[in-house]
Amino acid sequence: MTREFICIVCPNSCRLTVTETAGSITVSGNECPRGEKHGIHEYREPTRMLTTTVAIAGGVLPRLPVISREEVPKALIGRCLRVLYKMKVSAPLKCGDIIVKNICNSGVDVIASRSMDLRPEAGT
Ligand code: SF4
Repeated sequence: MTREFICIVCPNSCRLTVTETAGSITVSGNECPRGEKHGIHEYREPTRMLTTTVAIAGGVLPRLPVISREEVPKALIGRCLRVLYKMKVSAPLKCGDIIVKNICNSGVDVIASRSMDLRPEAGT
């Protein structure tokens, strides 16, 4: 099987061709060894950082930016986003607070990527 990817490790954006034959994987089109590693990773188990926002009650802003602590399997990104879009957290929260532990059983926590103070009138 052969698949093609764009290497996203540096701005060069090399076009990678990853071929699996008899259990061995080869990468071509990479201009450096990091591209080979990236191509194999993309072929075997693609992962991405998850960044989005969740609704927040009582905050100085209506939505809180969140990020996964580590990369999440690409196949789970859609499910994770649906979970996050449906939820609403409450201010105040600190940068790094856990918003969802082990999201979609990925083994990865989603955390606040900024602090959010309570809106002054929301606390009275
Ligand atoms: S293969 Fe190397 S040079 Fe090409 S985009 Fe990837 S990291 Fe950059």
